[in-house]
Amino acid sequence: LSLPIKSRLTIWYVILLAVILAAWSIFLLTRLQSGLYASIDQALVSRTAQISLGLSGQGAGEFLDVNAPSLILKSKGEFAAQLLSLDGTVLESSSDAATIRPMISKSELALALTGHRILRTTLLGKDREKFRILAVKIPLQADSRVIVVGTSTESADNSIHRLLILLLISGPAALVAAGIGGWLLARKALLPVLQITSKAAEIGVNQLDERIETPVKTDELGTLAATLNSMLDRLQHGVEERRRFIADASHELRTPLAIMRSEIDISLGSEGLQSEAVETLESAREEVDRMSRIVENLLTLARIDEGKLQLLQKPVDIKGLSETVSYSMGFLAETKNISIQVTGDRTMVVADSEYLEQVITNLVENAVKYSHPGGSVLISTWQAGNEAGLTVQDSGPGIPAELLTRIFDRFFRVDTSRSRNEGGSGLGLSISREIIEAHNGRIWAMSDIGKGSTFSIALSGDSFSRQLQPSPFS
Ligand code: ADP
Repeated sequence: LSLPIKSRLTIWYVILLAVILAAWSIFLLTRLQSGLYASIDQALVSRTAQISLGLSGQGAGEFLDVNAPSLILKSKGEFAAQLLSLDGTVLESSSDAATIRPMISKSELALALTGHRILRTTLLGKDREKFRILAVKIPLQADSRVIVVGTSTESADNSIHRLLILLLISGPAALVAAGIGGWLLARKALLPVLQITSKAAEIGVNQLDERIETPVKTDELGTLAATLNSMLDRLQHGVEERRRFIADASHELRTPLAIMRSEIDISLGSEGLQSEAVETLESAREEVDRMSRIVENLLTLARIDEGKLQLLQKPVDIKGLSETVSYSMGFLAETKNISIQVTGDRTMVVADSEYLEQVITNLVENAVKYSHPGGSVLISTWQAGNEAGLTVQDSGPGIPAELLTRIFDRFFRVDTSRSRNEGGSGLGLSISREIIEAHNGRIWAMSDIGKGSTFSIALSGDSFSRQLQPSPFS
């Protein structure tokens, strides 16, 4: 059973309090009882003294007369008395049902005769009423007698009973009140934990600069928050270092790749090359291009994560960009015998042309990568209202409808053997989405399983240059 801490604390608190209350009640009740019984005993003692004084002074004959008021037991709470002979015969009694037979046993009588004082609680009479009795020996000149005096404990028991009822009512009420109070207190005490938890849950890898508030620095919760914060410090440091490394590494790789690319181009331009050499060089060029695209994506990723994606937005002809991409993808498409076509009007959008080219490259590369050999890729530009953009349509295997939004997640790949064979990283689309969203644009995919997929981007169109076309700025 996994209850929240505040409930568990409250339960333990209430249980503990119940035990304390029960112990306290028992203590109170026993104290009250022993107090009340002590005063009963006191009264019994003084009554026996009084009677024995009367007896020894006046003799047995006067016993009833002298002590009449004190020996008559009419109503409860008064005294019952008996005068017993040595053999246990009731010589005199306060003529009550409780006193017809000796109030003490034979053995007690014997004990009393040896000078012991008998003091105990017993049940007497038809109603089995509870009595406290005291028996003592009175040495008279003629003969020894034992006098037994008893009194009902009813009024004392009633007081105890009333206290018990009071405790039984007030105890649970106190427990309920304490439970509610305890729960509220526990909730108040644990509220900062909830705040820390929700704050910590909010901090994703992109908000590592955020910290948890530490209102009171000295208590345990303050320490917890401070510990989490110092953990965040280390995490942020590690993540930043990793980002910097990726950014630096991909930046460093750009130049050598560009040099390799131009050297391969130069080599391919030289005369008298054998066809095998041309083939090898072309394949090398393709691989260098692929590597460049990966490096570009990594660099963009590092910039996005660093929050340093700086867009140089200006009117761009998206059709012209598409043609550039289609040209640079030509080699890759050729190897798979895939045709790339660009259609649509010259369309202006406001965007950072380098990043936009990267997005189109990612989309077209995927279209080529995932299309079957002999397939086709169609890039078309469009314009609607204030928006303009393009769609990249392929004749590939398509994407299951439920995954159409997830493919834009980082590292997400539709796990088919096909995409595994293509060896992608699952980053291209997520980077494309980040770039498009940084432009306040939209990117989405539609697909017909078995027929192909269509990826679209929408950006704000450039109405200004459209109106003035051909414009000196574009
Ligand atoms: P990858 O490097 O794996 O291509 P992406 O982020 O570009 O990473 O794409 C994510 C996944 O989306 C791919 O692994 C692939 O399964 C699927 N996908 C992307 N484009 C297409 C497409 N045109 N046709 C079919 N599946 C695609």
